[in-house]
Amino acid sequence: MQQASHLIVKDLVLIGGGHTHAIALLMFGMKSLPGLRLTLISNTCHTPYSGMLPGHVAGFYDFDQCHIDLRRLGQFAQAQLYLDGAIGLDLDNNKVICANRPPVAFDLLSIDIGSTPAQELVPGAAEYAIPAKPVAEFLSKWDQILAEFGQHPAKTLSIGIVGGGAGGVELAMTMQQRLLKVKSQNSQVKIHLFDRGAELMPDHNRWVRRRLQNILINRGIQLYLGETVCAVLPDKICCESGLVVDCNYIFWVTQASAPHWIKASGLQTDSKGFILVSDTLQSLSHPHIFAAGDIATMVNHPRPKAGVFAVRQGKPLFANLRAIALCQPLQFYQPQKLYLSLIGTGDGNAIASWGPFGWQSPLLWRWKDYIDRKFMDRFQNLPPMARVSSQQPIVTNNQKLTTNNQMHCAGCGSKVGSTTLERVLQRVQVEYPITARDDIILGLETPDDAAVVEVPVGQLMVHTVDYFRALINDPYTFGQIATNHCLSDIFAMGATPQSALAVVTVPYATEEKVEETLYQLLCGAMKVLSEAQTSLVGGHTTEGAELAFGLSCNGLVTRDRLLRKRGMEPGQVLVLTKALGTGILFAADMRQQAKGRWIDGAVSAMVLSNQEAAKVLMAHGATACTDVTGFGLLGHLLEMVRASKVGVELDLEAIPSLAGVREMLDIGIVSSLQPQNLRASRWISNLSQVCDRPNYPLLFDPQTAGGLLASIPADRAVDCQRSLVALGYKDTQAIGRVIPVLEGVKPIRAC
Ligand SMILES: Cc1cc2nc3c(=O)[nH]c(=O)nc-3n(C[C@H](O)[C@H](O)[C@H](O)COP(=O)(O)OP(=O)(O)OC[C@H]3O[C@@H](n4cnc5c(N)ncnc54)[C@H](O)[C@@H]3O)c2cc1C
Repeated sequence: MQQASHLIVKDLVLIGGGHTHAIALLMFGMKSLPGLRLTLISNTCHTPYSGMLPGHVAGFYDFDQCHIDLRRLGQFAQAQLYLDGAIGLDLDNNKVICANRPPVAFDLLSIDIGSTPAQELVPGAAEYAIPAKPVAEFLSKWDQILAEFGQHPAKTLSIGIVGGGAGGVELAMTMQQRLLKVKSQNSQVKIHLFDRGAELMPDHNRWVRRRLQNILINRGIQLYLGETVCAVLPDKICCESGLVVDCNYIFWVTQASAPHWIKASGLQTDSKGFILVSDTLQSLSHPHIFAAGDIATMVNHPRPKAGVFAVRQGKPLFANLRAIALCQPLQFYQPQKLYLSLIGTGDGNAIASWGPFGWQSPLLWRWKDYIDRKFMDRFQNLPPMARVSSQQPIVTNNQKLTTNNQMHCAGCGSKVGSTTLERVLQRVQVEYPITARDDIILGLETPDDAAVVEVPVGQLMVHTVDYFRALINDPYTFGQIATNHCLSDIFAMGATPQSALAVVTVPYATEEKVEETLYQLLCGAMKVLSEAQTSLVGGHTTEGAELAFGLSCNGLVTRDRLLRKRGMEPGQVLVLTKALGTGILFAADMRQQAKGRWIDGAVSAMVLSNQEAAKVLMAHGATACTDVTGFGLLGHLLEMVRASKVGVELDLEAIPSLAGVREMLDIGIVSSLQPQNLRASRWISNLSQVCDRPNYPLLFDPQTAGGLLASIPADRAVDCQRSLVALGYKDTQAIGRVIPVLEGVKPIRAC
């Protein structure tokens, strides 16, 4: 993961990866600003492009065609990506409060979190209706409905859609068209569209309104105009007029609403809770905070909440974020009054609406399709990563700092100052207090030249150390991954971790920014250490070109419970607790080839501690164990096999791999360490028969925070696997069996 080698002086935090931020990030990627650290906080790593969403519902576009991959985009923009939802703002201290991580500090903030259909006003709507946003939840429900409908050939499916704006009308047409394709001869599809207005789509001209209304009627879509929905029951829509309509599913596409935390934060909002912004897209109350897209209301130019406006704001937002970071004058932006809407009708046609004009033609659909694909192409085929293209300094505290050619001292001159460290440790402990243990004689609470720990009588001390560069642009998550990785050796030995010393390199930055990086990183590390009841007793922190972290860990174990690499016995089954492929996926990530959700999958596996897995393996009679890390599965297995003087029959097909690994192997992406690990292949007895098999390269993939590999008595293996899966090690597999080693025969046989 590349990191800026420039001094970081300002933090620009973007909340939400909506249309405006996607464009701004693209532009930051092409014209970065040295010294400005970008952080995107997003509750999803795939953000939908609204223009293609109805086409996706209709089945014209697959998921990737209509979603922007924020991991890839973030990487292109050299932005940190924090996958979390913002739930509040602490404006006194300039912090974003997130649902699942420590607060995130900012100097400049921009908010583009979209809107959600207002459900609160109608009883039962929040409980029983499916809102069109958040889109991820809407689509997951839609996929489920499609699958269920396809499986029940004689079903009558009745869908209610509440809201007759452009979104509701498009959904009614596209859902119907899709369901008609899925349905069998004996099943039926009924679509009911409700709106309190006398006509649909009041923001559009008369011709467009009439045309769409006729299309809906001709297609047998039931229109309930002038009907105000007053209650939603699990299977019914109730209107003020007394009308009650039975529906299997109810979709909510009413007017946009803003989340409560925006207003509660103290930002000035309009009567509906949307952030009031000036012509520069700055908050009226807090000029260092910007807002764009649906969540913002331009006080001088109010416009409908539509993706087209969010997209157009991308360029001016980028220009103004850059300008404010450079202390330059900001630009005024005035959105267009008339805008072209191309409304897909779900059958390969589209209707154009522009002010008083309207037109319908299949050509319009083709044109819309062309425009939308072209828009998405900018995000799907990102240009090669730009090097820093501006040498302009960022101004901070009225002081100009040159952000390159900065002299960085080495030796102890590169250490992070003690006051910074003290402050960070105090802050971290508010979230994750250091584990107090009786066997820690001198730790961080009573600092000295070195930590002093006690080895209780009858116990052995297990020592291990690991340290590596950040593989992900999120110090909090990296802190968790690295700590899991470092503790893994202890668990693999059957030991319980006791204490740890941290070694950290933080990127060059101002004191304040160093503090923030350290804070996020150590929060991640301390979260894992606290869960493992392990005390952080000291450490060493320096500044350098990029973030790196490691721990020297101590663990305790009694001699009789010590689990070694040796100890495998013929007849036993080999159990692997996590899927492989982190090396391949992160190699792909560096080449911008990995999909964001694949990296999410890898991260979920890496933040899963091996502690509980070790306990289960021990409880099921494991006689040998190791953790699978840098040398890959085969390298670590060979160490076990040699130490145990046995052979192994590996079931290649049973080896679990993370999502996306096969695709990346197919295009030849492997880790840079793979060629060295591949040397272990000489120990495979039937190499020529298996080296072309799809899973073969997986054997040599270096793992970060990989799983445990253990040798279990055959009669306990199934039970052991079940227990591991129940504890969250969902990819656990029996991947082979231990066999006697024969003189002169290579010990590994793959089948
Ligand atoms: C069914 C439907 C069809 C539509 N079709 C069209 C169309 O064809 N053309 C058109 O112009 N408009 C259309 N719209 C409207 C359009 O979707 C919105 O106007 C547009 O998406 C607004 O863009 P945005 O950038 O403001 O936010 P969004 O596109 O909604 O993006 C917001 C992002 O922020 C993330 N986020 C939200 N909350 C948080 C949080 N608390 N923390 C972190 N991240 C968060 C979301 O996951 C999302 O990725 C449609 C709307 C619907 C419901």
